[in-house]
Amino acid sequence: FIQLYQPLNLMGVIYREIKQAFVDIEALFELIGQKPEVKDKPGAKPLIVGAGAIRFDNVTFSYDGVRPILRGVDFEVPPGHMVALVGPSGAGKSTISRLLYRFYDVKTGRITIDGQDVRDVTQESLRAAIGIVPQDTVLFNDTIEYNIRYGRVDATDAEMREAARMAQIDGFIKQLPLGYKSMVGERGLKLSGGEKQRVAIARTILKGPPILILDEATSALDSFTEKEIQAALDSVAKGRTTLVIAHRLSTVIGADTILVLDKGRIVERGTHASLLEARGLYAALWTRQQEAEEARRKLAEMVEEG
Ligand code: ADP
Ligand code: MG
Repeated sequence: FIQLYQPLNLMGVIYREIKQAFVDIEALFELIGQKPEVKDKPGAKPLIVGAGAIRFDNVTFSYDGVRPILRGVDFEVPPGHMVALVGPSGAGKSTISRLLYRFYDVKTGRITIDGQDVRDVTQESLRAAIGIVPQDTVLFNDTIEYNIRYGRVDATDAEMREAARMAQIDGFIKQLPLGYKSMVGERGLKLSGGEKQRVAIARTILKGPPILILDEATSALDSFTEKEIQAALDSVAKGRTTLVIAHRLSTVIGADTILVLDKGRIVERGTHASLLEARGLYAALWTRQQEAEEARRKLAEMVEEG
């Protein structure tokens, strides 16, 4: 009996672990993406969010301890400001957002929020203060309502629907036979990448955290929907400290500061106008994207004309 009981008990533990993990969407992200190697310090205190200033002090990082991924990354996001991170794919942009969320710890240097090192505060309080719209959204096998409410479980129905409306997903949900009670995920409705992203945006709007991380939050959307949602994201970001990672440079023209990351280093920083004037990497990326956009437009016209 004992022999049989042991593995069953172990299964129970694993099952509980998994269920526990599902309690937090962002922990789920951790579960599928990375191994949890970060632990609370003994006696860690909750983060006290004041104005919401983010600082990266000379941060270096490596996933495997060999290949450097970030090298001397130094910047701040003043309270309520929007800082954009741009640069070639693989430059280390998402890594910066993972370090702020403390999926990993920095190798050297430090990251602070309102002067508190993220390694000194409880992860629970850190993650309560930050809302992430990640590159790839994973939804729960549950109703759409559950997935949106996840942002703030005690929200009223009206607040939940308002968040969905702002994220431009309300119209789509209402035409479903079961509306907000529709099941999504493997055992329910298959949502497109863009629809999933809009659910994640609605969830973050509902959460209304003091600090926002948008990691290519509109990358799965067509450019028409992107424009609409951009407006919603801009209104959520207003007054909140926001770090936005952008693939399409045209979405971050209005950022207070743009950081250009290349091979783990910030190689340029400034406003859209000053970076164009500098004629460096940013200006080159901008020109390339404008040309690609122009080519797409021409092609679309040709198709229309037959
Ligand atoms: P970006 O978001 O700018 O495209 P990332 O921060 O995702 O870049 O990745 C930076 C570098 O780190 C890439 O070379 C990538 O392959 C590597 N990398 C990303 N995640 C991991 C991981 N979990 N383990 C090892 N290497 C990783
Ligand atoms: Mg990325």
